[in-house]
Amino acid sequence: MSAFEEQPTDCFICRKHRGEISIPGGAIHEDDLLYVGHAHIPEGQTTAYLGWLVVETKRHIQELADLTDAEAQALGLLVVRLSRALMVSEKAEHIYTFLFGDGVRHVHIHVIARYPGAPREYWGTRVDEWPDAPHGGPREIAELCARIRASLAV
Ligand SMILES: [Zn+2]
Repeated sequence: MSAFEEQPTDCFICRKHRGEISIPGGAIHEDDLLYVGHAHIPEGQTTAYLGWLVVETKRHIQELADLTDAEAQALGLLVVRLSRALMVSEKAEHIYTFLFGDGVRHVHIHVIARYPGAPREYWGTRVDEWPDAPHGGPREIAELCARIRASLAV
């Protein structure tokens, strides 16, 4: 284990799951294996790109290769269902999903809406930089989370 690897006690994601850190909108979905929330508002800013969801394992593990079969199956199903929810309730035209894990060493999959009209230069990892994309503060994020929850329940 390198010096860069955090213990669960210090891990941002583990702390969030334990309720020590709150995020706008709260948990969109939570079960024994997985937790889903909306991305937080970047430090120093008052709004966030809307429709940026994060799916996290409840266990503090660092690689996809560490998932159990049950976690992997639940993860795949949930990513697909969240993608569908973003398209139905938020009218996204495309969904990006990826894992970096370079910053917080706890498996988390990004599931991000791309909205109609996004110029080609903002496709991909720059999708949140499009100035005309939907952005919002804690209230708008909470409303979006409620719509996603309702869409998942269908
Ligand atoms: Zn963790």
